[in-house]
Parts: sequence; C-alpha cells; structure tokens
Amino acid sequence: MQSFHPPNRVLMGPGPSDVPSRVLKAMAQPTIGHLDPAFVGMMDEIKTMLRQAFCTDNAMTFAVSAPGSAGMECCFANLVEPGDEVIVCINGVFGGRMKENVERMGGTAIVVEDNWGEPVSLDKVEAAFAANANAKLLAFVHAETSTGVRSDAKALCQLARKNGALSLVDAVTSLGGIELLVDEWGIDAIYSGTQKCLSCPPGLSPVSFSPAAADKILSRKSKVRSWFFDLSLVMAYWQGDGARTYHHTAPVNAMYGLHESLVMLHEEGLQNAWGRHADMHQKLKIGLENLGLEFVVEEQYRLPQLNAVKFPDTVTDEAAIRKDLLQQHNLEIGAGLGALAGKVWRIGLMGASASDANIDKCLSALSQVLAKQ
Ligand SMILES: *Cc1c(COP(=O)(O)O)cnc(C)c1O
Repeated sequence: MQSFHPPNRVLMGPGPSDVPSRVLKAMAQPTIGHLDPAFVGMMDEIKTMLRQAFCTDNAMTFAVSAPGSAGMECCFANLVEPGDEVIVCINGVFGGRMKENVERMGGTAIVVEDNWGEPVSLDKVEAAFAANANAKLLAFVHAETSTGVRSDAKALCQLARKNGALSLVDAVTSLGGIELLVDEWGIDAIYSGTQKCLSCPPGLSPVSFSPAAADKILSRKSKVRSWFFDLSLVMAYWQGDGARTYHHTAPVNAMYGLHESLVMLHEEGLQNAWGRHADMHQKLKIGLENLGLEFVVEEQYRLPQLNAVKFPDTVTDEAAIRKDLLQQHNLEIGAGLGALAGKVWRIGLMGASASDANIDKCLSALSQVLAKQ
C-alpha cells in the first residue's frame, strides 16, 4: 500500500463541487481539542456566519457533524413524534427520502406528488391541508437536485403557517446558490450541506430551527428516537454558555473548512454569490443549447446551480460519454437519478464550480466527446 493521491478533477456534477485551495489549506491546519477555547470561539463564528448565510436570527443554528442526509434525519427525528401527520411533497428523489424519514420516526406521511421536473404544486398542498386538519408539519425540497427544479419556498411556508403547521425545508442545494430567506419566508426547520454551493468537502450539514420549532421540540411527549440527533443533547455542546459539555467529538478539521468557506462567502457577499450562479447559468445554457441539449425543466423553475439536460437521440451510450469526460478531460458531470436515470445529465454549477473557466472547459469537452460519438 502507498499513499493515495486523487486525480485532478473538475467537478460539475450534483456535488461535491470544486473546493478552493483556501478551504483545503484551512483543513490541513493542526488538529486541536474540540473543547479548546480557540475551537469553541471558531464554532461561535461558524454559527454567526451560518445565520448570515441562512438570513436568520435563529439561536438554534449550527452544523450537524455528518453530511446533508444527516441534517435531514436530525430535523425529522426532532420534529416528528409517533402518530404525527406530516404533509410531504415529492417531486424527485429527495422528497421520497423525506417520506421515508417521517415513517421511520413513527409518523404518518400524507404525500403530495408532482411530476419529476415540475415544482411542488401550491394547490395540491392547500388541498392536502384542507383534507388533513391534524397535519402540523409541511416538508418539501426547495432545490430538487435530482431534476434541477426550484419550488416556491416562500409561498409553501406561508401555506403551512396559514394552516397552523410548521415548515421543514431541504436546502442542501439552495444554500449559497439561490435566494433563501429563512426568517422572511417563515421557514421553521432547514438543513443544508457543505459540498454543494458552499464549496466545502462533504461531511457537515448546516441546520437552523425557528423559535416555534424549538418550542415544538421542547414540548415533545416522547424522547427523540435518535440519541445522536437529539437536539436537547447536541445543543449543550453547541450552545452551553461557558460550560459546554461533551456530546461527540466534533470533526475539528472539517469545521476549519466550513469556517473558511463561510468567510469566503462573506467576502463575496451573499447576493453576489446568488448573482454569480445566475450569470453562470445563463452562459452555460447558451452553450448547452448550441450543442443540441435540451433542458428538462421549464425556464422559470430552473435552478442555476443544477442543469438537467436531455441529450440528442444520436447519443446511444450516455455512460460512455461521461466516462470519456472523466478519463480524457478530468471532468465530472452527473448522471440522471431515479426516474431520470439514463435519460439526462445533471451539470452542476455549484459554489466555486460556477466559473467562466469551468463552463468553457465543460462546453469544449462536451463538444469533443459528442462529435466523436
Ligand atoms: C445532496 C442532497 C442531499 C443529501 O446530502 P448528502 O450530503 O449527500 O447526504 C439531500 N437533499 C438534496 C436536495 C441534495 O441535493
């Protein structure tokens, strides 16, 4: 066995995205104790910068020590009790996982289904509330990475509130890439990931809970079914004033990376980051259409950071094209997922990957491999 040296790839799939060397260098710094005052001070800065990125004042804002899926499970574990009815919107892979989470926590999922590639229908959600007066939680995916569709998070959260329910939002792909206003939109629980538009390596999941969500958690009748995700225990580590207690050993160096990526987001400015993703999407769109690729999602619902495109009929072996891109051009793009497997490519413009240089590389590599087939 010898040391591992990864190849030098350009990452334009559905995540992870390219990680800037500043973030990698931050992570290569010496490990210190996870209760060291210097580390605790850095955690406080992470909380402050996450609040800015989420546009929230929520006290309960921190990073779960595991990837986005763990943030998802943390939210459902704390907000769903056995017997609870939860309206779950499914318009792609990740909505399906939300349903799975509700059921594993002992809740009943009331499913609102929409076609893959279409946003969550407000009318259907309204009807679901009308038919299920006991539903006290609405769960949906803001940016569905499996299809590249954006749902109207603001309107959905307003619907939840109007019906006396809390909202639980998957923002794994939206945070840092498109407008996301947790407080203004009235989002009650939200989870994200580091390896999409924050351009950090995978492994942490930023989350935030509104005061109403915190009340719901504090007034639970039963213990949270997961020990690791039980927020009443986790918060003693993230919040304990002066006297933080050991819960688990935080992934110290991963936190350095998140801290640095949030500093970079702060330097760029949140609005500017959203604007850059939008501009890069316009540029990529023109190039992809010139190559004969068609978007899956109607223009007004498209995510700039995840471009799902159908390839021309002349492409008989799409996997061979992705293999060529990877092996000859060091470029990773995403395959279709779930119902769209084998039918589309998913080209990511997330975080640092949303750059002129990446788009130029992607378009030139794609045109070469397409010409070959
Ligand atoms: C990537 C993703 C997840 C899961 O995040 P992991 O870090 O892979 O666990 C959840 N939801 C959406 C919308 C995603 O794009």
